Amino acid sequence: MLGYCAGVRRAIDIALREAAAHQKVYTAGPLIHNPVVLETLKMRGVEVLEEDADTQSAAVQDAVVVIRAHGVTPQAEARLKERGFRITDASCPKVKKSQTLAKELSQAGVRVFLAGEKRHAEIIGIQGYAPDSIVVENVRDALETALLLLAEDPATKIAVIAQTTLAEEDYAAISDALQTVFPRITIYNTICSATRTRQNALRSLCEKADAIIIAGGRNSANTRRLAAVAEAACSAGGGAGAAPGKPVALVENAREIPEAFLRGTYATIGISAGASTPDEIVDEIERLLLWRRR
Ligand code: SF4
Repeated sequence: MLGYCAGVRRAIDIALREAAAHQKVYTAGPLIHNPVVLETLKMRGVEVLEEDADTQSAAVQDAVVVIRAHGVTPQAEARLKERGFRITDASCPKVKKSQTLAKELSQAGVRVFLAGEKRHAEIIGIQGYAPDSIVVENVRDALETALLLLAEDPATKIAVIAQTTLAEEDYAAISDALQTVFPRITIYNTICSATRTRQNALRSLCEKADAIIIAGGRNSANTRRLAAVAEAACSAGGGAGAAPGKPVALVENAREIPEAFLRGTYATIGISAGASTPDEIVDEIERLLLWRRR
């Protein structure tokens, strides 16, 4: 399971399609956390919109803004429209589903917990649809916040939604913690199947390989999470079948592959990649490993 996920690929395709049809195409935030791909997109007419872009300038007139796979808050979307941009929504349909769910629950008076990273664009976007939702990043966070809420309003109805790229075991731990405080909580499994499949494939790869490379940007949440999944599966006590002490390297490109991986120290090296890692980077890593091990 390598290369872009369906949501990221779709957003890139939409942006390129818009670029072929319009003078100027911007994206609300980077479409992908990879400088090389962003540069290629720029050459094809797709640029990241700067917050302070002068909307009166000729370059910005008649421009289209593509909303990336992570989505944005409805407030941010409204601001873009006020600035005169035309909007093309390339939010991933799975993220859109979480946004709608959060909105409906919030409007029905349910207090929504969002399990994920407070500063991640997807969580910020969903929170915009349920402004009274509470973001929890870990079990401690979940317990502390839930206990405070219980003291404030013991009768409150509670639900929890996960960031689509959260690891299943992290979500299970967070929702279990919330359930100890609110036994009647409704738990929605909004983890993306692409994420789940990729993480499960990585776990079985960790059983077979002697070392693991995770390819992707350090600023990509799902790449970091894959590295954490690999660390857990490859370390002693990392679960059934995990061999102790297998090294895991997170690399943004082939130049970052540690020397030990290139020297042939490990007979089998497994490679996995984040949902926003271009195929070219994975190919480049594979080529270098094969070349150095000839
Ligand atoms: S990881 Fe899943 S939810 Fe997130 S953008 Fe990709 S397909 Fe959509």
